[in-house]
Amino acid sequence: MSKEVKPESVSLNALGTAAAPESELLCIYGTGDLGRSLGLRLLQSGYRVVYGSRRPQSCGPLPQGAQVMSHAAASQSAGLVFICIHREHYEFLEALAPQLKGKVLVDVSNNLKKNIYPEANAEYLQRLVPGAHVVKGFNTLSAWALQNGPTDANRQVYLCGNSAEAKQAVAEAATKLGFSVLDRGSLSAARELEDFPLQLFPEWRLPLRVAVGLTAFFFFYVLLRDVVYTYVYEGKDISFRIMVSLANKVFPIVSLIMLALCYLPGVIAAVLQLYRGTKYKRFPNWLDRWMLCRKQLGLLALGFAFLHVLYTLVIPIRYYVRFRISARIISQIKDNETSEFDNTSAWRSDSYYSVGILGFAVYLLLGITSLPSVSNALSWREFSFVQSKLGYLTVFLCTLHTYLYGWNRFLKSYAYQWYTPPGYMLSLVLPSVVLVLKLLLMLPCVDRTLTRIRQGWERTDPEDDSKKSLLT
Ligand code: NAP
Repeated sequence: MSKEVKPESVSLNALGTAAAPESELLCIYGTGDLGRSLGLRLLQSGYRVVYGSRRPQSCGPLPQGAQVMSHAAASQSAGLVFICIHREHYEFLEALAPQLKGKVLVDVSNNLKKNIYPEANAEYLQRLVPGAHVVKGFNTLSAWALQNGPTDANRQVYLCGNSAEAKQAVAEAATKLGFSVLDRGSLSAARELEDFPLQLFPEWRLPLRVAVGLTAFFFFYVLLRDVVYTYVYEGKDISFRIMVSLANKVFPIVSLIMLALCYLPGVIAAVLQLYRGTKYKRFPNWLDRWMLCRKQLGLLALGFAFLHVLYTLVIPIRYYVRFRISARIISQIKDNETSEFDNTSAWRSDSYYSVGILGFAVYLLLGITSLPSVSNALSWREFSFVQSKLGYLTVFLCTLHTYLYGWNRFLKSYAYQWYTPPGYMLSLVLPSVVLVLKLLLMLPCVDRTLTRIRQGWERTDPEDDSKKSLLT
């Protein structure tokens, strides 16, 4: 580690001297966590690094090979300065404006909360040092990720700034460090970049709310129909069923509805395009938002399906189930009764399980292909085949599984306690609507029109508003 270096006589230590003479010198203001991690990466990537610090004599251990001096002296010979200082301490930079004129300043700062300042940190920095070219960037990387290199999800560096040359210089450094660069435009995008690290699973919020809402609704629905109803009409307390039986009713219901919610917006979008006769009109915002969270809806739905599988697997070892089976056998022995083998019931239960297993297998496949590492390896056609064709197959198999579960109970009056249908019947509404609409969209005459619309054909001529024939 390099020690303090006198500001007026900066000496390169062993590694610094070893660096190739033409290697570029970059400056970092601030010797804190990010400054040190960034310095280390820059040195490892072949740059020379000089730190600007309030206390160059006593700023603590720095990466080996780095120099340290006062702010003004440090930036003198470097064209690019990383400002690794919290925004609250930026004021001192105003006095350094003459020295920083023409330099590229990289603002890496983040805030603790959104909208605590009237302007973005980078815009504030630009105001303090108007002669410099401020570029916002590197703020989405943690000191840890910088120190360890871009080996994980932290591969991207977002940049924005008003000077194309300045952005180019920062982009070159980021690329040399092993990151991929995404240019987000002018400095006015800085606030957006500063808000990135403050986001908390933004794309998961709506699907999570839907999942919690559906779970809560169906839990109370099933509780009322099963536990409360039995207590009121038969005086029996079966509240122990909440833990496994009720949970295992709610999870598949929520899973099936959420799976249908993944495919419903696609069908609605197709119907809307057919109705409008063009693909060039924007979808309503609610539909856009809904379509954007389909992956999260699907993954949550898969999670609920997984819980359903686990809860189903424990059924044979449940005390209640073992007690019921042995009690029935004992009573049959006592009464010298035998039960006939029912071929229809055997078919029903085997089909129900088999279709359920197949549905879950395709469901898993959908989940796996939505993982970035897998989907990146697929061509667009392969990805859309899996997510669309296999997706509808999953909806079909899971819906059939639920219809087989209901079997002939749809027609039995005892299933409708308190004039309400069982939860699984309610869960069938949306997937059935999706499947029927999808079948209608697959009709050759409808499919042909939709395909043409998606290839750019418009029913109404955009220039003179006249109706066009589908065959033109
Ligand atoms: P830090 O560990 O607190 O270091 C900040 C450095 O700023 C200090 O070491 C100090 O360096 C300098 N400083 C402190 N008070 C100052 C003052 N009054 N005037 C001038 N300089 C002062 O903070 P950090 O974690 O490195 O973060 C630095 C910046 O990077 C922040 O804006 C932060 O939002 C951003 N950032 C950090 C991370 C991270 O993972 N840490 C990730 C992304 C972005 P000297 O004593 O050498 O002057």
